[in-house]
Order: sequence, then C-alpha cells, then structure tokens
Amino acid sequence: MIIQRAEIYPLHLPMKALFKTSRGAIGGAGMERTVVLVKLTSDTGVVGWGEGSPSRLWSSETMESVVSALQRYLLPAVIGRAVSDLAGLHQAMNAVIAPGFSIAHPIAKCAVDTAVHDLLGKARGLSLPELWGYAPTDEAVLSWTVSAGDETALDSAIAEGRERGYANFNLKLGTDPAFDLLQCERVRAAAPDGFLWGDANGGYRFHDILRLLPDLEAAGLDLLEQPLPANQLRDLAALKQRMRIPLGADEPIIAPRELMEWIRQDLITAYVAKPSRSGGLFPSRICMEIADHAPLMTVCSGLTETGIGLAANAQLACAFGIQRPCAWNGPQFLDESLLTEPLTIEGGKLRRPEGPGLGVTVDEDKVRHYTNGGELHVE
Ligand SMILES: [Mg+2]
Repeated sequence: MIIQRAEIYPLHLPMKALFKTSRGAIGGAGMERTVVLVKLTSDTGVVGWGEGSPSRLWSSETMESVVSALQRYLLPAVIGRAVSDLAGLHQAMNAVIAPGFSIAHPIAKCAVDTAVHDLLGKARGLSLPELWGYAPTDEAVLSWTVSAGDETALDSAIAEGRERGYANFNLKLGTDPAFDLLQCERVRAAAPDGFLWGDANGGYRFHDILRLLPDLEAAGLDLLEQPLPANQLRDLAALKQRMRIPLGADEPIIAPRELMEWIRQDLITAYVAKPSRSGGLFPSRICMEIADHAPLMTVCSGLTETGIGLAANAQLACAFGIQRPCAWNGPQFLDESLLTEPLTIEGGKLRRPEGPGLGVTVDEDKVRHYTNGGELHVE
C-alpha cells in the first residue's frame, strides 16, 4: 500500500478567548488560528488526516511556510512511498530539506506524519496504541490554561477553569515577575491539590528568574517550562542547579537528537512532549521512550490544535499512560473542532477516541468551509 495523493487544507479558524504568551497575543475572540491539514489517500483508497498548525509567535513556521514546504518538497518526497515505512518517510522528508540546528519544518512534517499514522491505523483496523504495541489508558487529565494580562482576567480565568471541573492549571509566565508570582499564588489558593505548571516561553532574563525562583517554588509551582531563551544553555545549566522543582524545555527540543543532548548536558529534569513541535508521532514516540528510560518526568503539551491534532496527542499520551495533566488547550481557545463528533471532555478529562487510526472522523464540509476554496492537490 503506497501513498498515492495528498491534499493540503489551509484554514483560518475562529478563536473564542484570548491566548497570550510572553511573546504576545497568539489570538483571541474575533481573531483567527491558522491551521494546516493534510489528507492522504492510499492506492487502495484508504484516507488519513493530519494536522500541523503553525503559530508565528511561537516558532519560525508560518501558515505560508508550512503550505509551501508541504506542497513543493515534503509531500512530493512521500508520495509513492510505502505507508507502513514510517522511518523511511521521515528519512525522505528530512533529506529533502536540510536541517538547521535541528530538523527543518517540524510542524509541516507533523501534518504528514499524523496523516500517515491515521491512514496506516485505518488500513489495518488498529488504533495507534495498538499499532505501536501499547495497552492505552482510556482518558487523559487536562490542565486549564491561564494566560491573563491583569488581575481581573486572572481571577475570571481561574474561576472558569474551576467551574468546568479542572483541578490543574497551566500558567503563561515570563512577562512580569511580580505578576507571575501573584498568578501562582492565586491558582494555588484556588486549586490546593492541583498540578501547577508554569511556562515562560523563554521570556525571563537570567537574573530575574534567579531572584523569582524561590518565591515561585514557595508559592507551590510544580514545574517550570522554558524559563530562558532556547539557546541560552549555560544559564539554563546554572538555573537547574538551584531548582527544587522539575525543569522542562519546549521550544529547542525538536528531534530525539536534541532531547538526548539536553539530557547529556544535564539541562532538564522534565520532557515536554509535543508532536507538533517534533515532526509528529514517530519522533515523539522515540522521545517518550528516551524520557521514560532517562528517566525524566514526562508531561504532554500541544500547540492549540483542532480535534485532529488533539486526537493524535491523546493517542500518544494514553499509549504511554501519562498521568500528569496534559496542556492541550485547543478546546479552550478554538471555536470549532472539525470532527463529526467532537472529542469528549468532562470534568477536566479527555476520553481517548477509540477506533482505528486517530479514532476520529473529520467533517470535510467544515474543513472546506474554513478553507474557502484554498485547498491544494499534490499527486
Ligand atoms: Mg511551552
């Protein structure tokens, strides 16, 4: 069974709430999220869907770069290849555009990788954990993302999360040390037993986080992710020596090679799994195994995906039985899931979709509606 043809769907999806990081507002109510979907069809007529949703204020990939990389290079490199040769498909994609510091265009590659996994699972009648040989858990616990700009927004974000049954919170830090401490204290007071995960997206200056760290730890922060810019490694090593709570990296850990190097240089104690950032499920599964054996704390995150990317994230986390809360905030910020049956989220828990492949059915009418005639065909 080979990959015979591909379609690329660039979409602009409505957002329903403000999402900001230390780099600025990613989007908000009345704004749009850029999403790129790939649909692959095999020579036997089986279809698979994948998502690679760039956010230009999070990494250097844009909607335009994802679409052009897919159309001109990545999809032509995989069309005609065997669906079951996941390793070979990645080698082909990695060969056609040279790496920079890490593999190039990981978000674009994630769309292809996920679609191939979905296609392969559907062709064989196996869910992804079954395809990989894992006995999955049935659900994943979620964290509620708080990305407030002021005290009023902070209190209402915490209250909304609690009302929806969330016990665990993900805080966007790295802008203002005093406000960051206040955020931790407020969330800890509202969720005494919850997992409190702070992500600075590289926003702190070294001396600011050195000064702030003991207060964040005393306020009950459980995990600090990417406190410093991705390439500021000497300071990261110094910071880690002073930390009593786990330290994770996000933006610089693309391929397994970076995860190994960060472990070898003793720079992290936590692995933040994020298939969108890492070229998809195949490399992410290798990283999950590395993290498991290192051993590191493993937590799962995402890039505000639609139901398609969310299903992929859920299959990976449940395959590995991840118990800590997962920071998948697509349902919190996107106004549309793109599935015929949206995933079930109740009491801050996501039910793993059963069935072959990703376990979900894409609503193609919705996809075409938001693509607005902009789909591209590659054969
Ligand atoms: Mg992050």
